[in-house]
Amino acid sequence: MLGLMQNWPLTVDKILDHAKEWHGGREVVSRSVEGPIVRTTYGQIHERAKRLSNALKGLGVQPGDRVATLAWNTGRHIEAWYGIMGIGAVCHTLNPRLFAEQLVYIVNHAEDKVIFSDLTFLPVLAELLPKMPSVQHVIVMSDDEHLKGCPIPGALSFEALVSQHSADCVWGGFDENTAAGLCYTSGTTGNPKGVLYSHRSNFLHTLVTMGVDVLGISAKDTVLPVVPMFHANAWGLALSGPASGAKLVMPGQKLDGASVHELLESEQVTFSAAVPTVWQMLLTHLRETNGKLTSLKRVVIGGSAVPEAIVRGFRDEFGVDVTHAWGMTETSPLGTQATPNAAIAAMSDEDQLRYKLKQGRPPVTIQLALQDDAGADLPHDGTTFGKLKVKGPFVVGEYFRGDGGAILDENGFFDTGDVATLDEHGFMQITDRAKDVIKSGGEWISSIEIENIAAGHPKAALAAVIGVYHPKWDERPLLLVRLKDGQEGTKEEFLAFLEGKIAKWWTPDDVVFVDDIPLGATGKIDKKLIRDRMKDYVLPTAQVREKA
Ligand code: AMP
Repeated sequence: MLGLMQNWPLTVDKILDHAKEWHGGREVVSRSVEGPIVRTTYGQIHERAKRLSNALKGLGVQPGDRVATLAWNTGRHIEAWYGIMGIGAVCHTLNPRLFAEQLVYIVNHAEDKVIFSDLTFLPVLAELLPKMPSVQHVIVMSDDEHLKGCPIPGALSFEALVSQHSADCVWGGFDENTAAGLCYTSGTTGNPKGVLYSHRSNFLHTLVTMGVDVLGISAKDTVLPVVPMFHANAWGLALSGPASGAKLVMPGQKLDGASVHELLESEQVTFSAAVPTVWQMLLTHLRETNGKLTSLKRVVIGGSAVPEAIVRGFRDEFGVDVTHAWGMTETSPLGTQATPNAAIAAMSDEDQLRYKLKQGRPPVTIQLALQDDAGADLPHDGTTFGKLKVKGPFVVGEYFRGDGGAILDENGFFDTGDVATLDEHGFMQITDRAKDVIKSGGEWISSIEIENIAAGHPKAALAAVIGVYHPKWDERPLLLVRLKDGQEGTKEEFLAFLEGKIAKWWTPDDVVFVDDIPLGATGKIDKKLIRDRMKDYVLPTAQVREKA
């Protein structure tokens, strides 16, 4: 027997309809790519997005066509998202930090028909366009004035299109399983693969992440999504912001400590989200300038493991609560968040911190499994490492165009490629990427854990740990440290700093001071490149044995 409730397809255009209807005057403030702060509202964004929809239809965009964006977080980018998705086209967010050849590969693989681009990226795009035969139109996210001297012949201006088209456009009306968004994974091995979100998966991700134990933003909040819309959908904030009626503050291209701080204060932001490197830059700026945070209450940090020093810094110096989140492009992205449950909330601040540094627990709809290589379930004892698998209505089922083949196991779980533990409170902790875990004498060493502790050394700007060949143990850890400007350090002081904080046999066999620790396109330490750079390096412990 079927239920008798209304059939109301979960399509994301309804989110902006809601924002317009009930929070129409709520502001969206952007640091525009042209420079000035631009103020608009959900009501205006709704109208302009509809005008864009008509413009896209006028350019021949049909349901299912891919329309890409190469853009920072701004109000215009939100208008492009809804304008594209509302008519059943697929919004393909391009990560401008990718290498040129990866961008070309991705655009060709997706067969993007139209690209929205910020002014910033026009020179690169102009060079690459001849290699992107599917692209018929480029829409520059600015006005006619700024299009003067544009290196792309025939490029259209966003503002001209908005003013030339009417807002009379019907959105939605299609199945909720219709594709809405496309985002390629950073592709640390092989070619990047496309994750094709549906309206339903985006809608459910929005509802779930609005919960108080997840992002928990409300109509009273002012939200600054530093995390880019081109990387894992800004953790859904361009959907959950309008859904909740929160004010949005969009930082554009300026993500340095001073610029973020300026917006946090001038717009009285209460909630923000970003990867650890952004928060580290902010903390450094605040300390150097004796800056204050007068309105910020909560920040969510994810994308890579949050170092303890950041959580303590925010808590003790600025009274800001940090919650740690884990997710991936393949999980829309939010999968777990380290919000205390009742038992953890009753603990002392110091005991709670141990849990806050974990990646956290899944909200309803996300199922997690911890398994060994043979697929057997492992105990949730907080110490046993295993493969982390995930299942749920906003988790990838297969990659775009079937790349990578069947990616779910026989129970429908997706292997995240992360190695993790689960504890008695259901808190998950990532110990490594499967390919970065260091295999020493048949046991596993977590590179992430060592580098997070080492990064907390007062002289360290950044730390990375990789496994290096060892004749006896297969692999041993090597610690690479980039020192803060003007600092000098020794191997001995870094090893002494680790002593007592990690198992003795996890102690790196050597410490190397480097000028650069490379970060990949999504802000994570690029271990593949580091391994490549260090391929001729031989551990001192290995040399001794070989001589003997
Ligand atoms: P991406 O799809 O680019 O967002 O990358 C997803 C991967 O980033 C995950 O599979 C993890 O390896 C890593 N990651 C995301 N969040 C965290 C976190 N809080 N701690 C450690 N690793 C994380």
